[in-house]
Amino acid sequence: MTAHDGQLAVLATLPSAEPGPLVHFDAIRSLLMLTRLPPVPDVYDLLWRYVRDENHALSLAVERAILVESLDLACVADLRRQHCGDVGKREVAALVEAAHGQAEALSRRIAAGRTDLADYGRAIADGGARLEAPLDAAALAALLEQLGAATATMQAANARLEGELATAASEAQALTDRLGAAERAAITDPLTGVLNRRGTFEALARLQGETRARAGGFAVAMLDIDHFKRFNDRFGHALGDEVLRFVARHVADRIAPLGGLVGRLGGEEFVAMLPDCDIKTAAVLIDRARAELASQIIRNAGDGASMGRVSYSAGIAADKPDDNADTLVARADKALYAAKRMGRDRVVPDRG
Ligand code: GH3
Ligand code: MG
Ligand code: MG
Repeated sequence: MTAHDGQLAVLATLPSAEPGPLVHFDAIRSLLMLTRLPPVPDVYDLLWRYVRDENHALSLAVERAILVESLDLACVADLRRQHCGDVGKREVAALVEAAHGQAEALSRRIAAGRTDLADYGRAIADGGARLEAPLDAAALAALLEQLGAATATMQAANARLEGELATAASEAQALTDRLGAAERAAITDPLTGVLNRRGTFEALARLQGETRARAGGFAVAMLDIDHFKRFNDRFGHALGDEVLRFVARHVADRIAPLGGLVGRLGGEEFVAMLPDCDIKTAAVLIDRARAELASQIIRNAGDGASMGRVSYSAGIAADKPDDNADTLVARADKALYAAKRMGRDRVVPDRG
């Protein structure tokens, strides 16, 4: 449905006929002046993607941030994480580097431990050799003292190594946890908590492979909230965001028990993935969730005021042998477009 959004007021002011790189550069320069963002690589890269409208969901999100004057460096980082996926990757790479450094420090420490052990072995062997010759009481006492000192040194080295190993183990655990969190963040939509665009396409490809391998069906639904712009205009973006969270949870809660996953492609568009499900069953499930949602009056949690009903339209497609994630989603999107044309608040299966 993205071609019909028509929301890009700032984009619309940019020259459209065959824009060359300098035209893009001029547009970026104007945006830098407008937003007062510094011309650092991440900012430039984001604005480059924006002026070329490479990813419509990203363009909409940038547009909105510009309009509400919230496009600062933190917002740029957020948008890149959500739509470009590379900030997460960079974070993961930094963590892997840290883990590598830790492993090297640990192996240096273990090598030092080996030297301590070799010194101790030499001290014992030396003591043993001296015991072979007759010793007077004073020499024996001196030898025992020497061996005692070597043992104490070794015990201290062992204790140190043990402590260092415990620290290294807990640091490794902390790193693993941070790595897991960074990987999750890279595929999660921060607003709704469901998969982001990148996570959605990764999950689509994975589920497509898994369901084909066990000859199960795989159905996909494209969902788009009806007249969401009106809702935003009437109640504001913050409550609009709450509705996005609510709808994402509503659908996810209903399909998760069946192994289904939800992702947000951008804006008010979601994908529901239903492994081991044929198109009819998927249509029934998504329609049941739609009817349940549309029958509820949404209330402002703050003052209890009614905000009316929210519905979505959906198009469903089932995986075919020559599909990939893109073609499968494109067929569901086409069916969604038909659902919108037929009057919204309904689910239409792909007939292709
Ligand atoms: P239709 O029934 O044809 O889908 O109409 P619509 O108004 O839902 O669709 P349209 O594409 O015209 O508008 C989508 C709106 O979604 C416009 C945009 O402001 C809003 N939107 C996109 N992303 C967000 C977001 O992250 N938060 C909020 N609150 N609104 C968003
Ligand atoms: Mg839409
Ligand atoms: Mg919509």
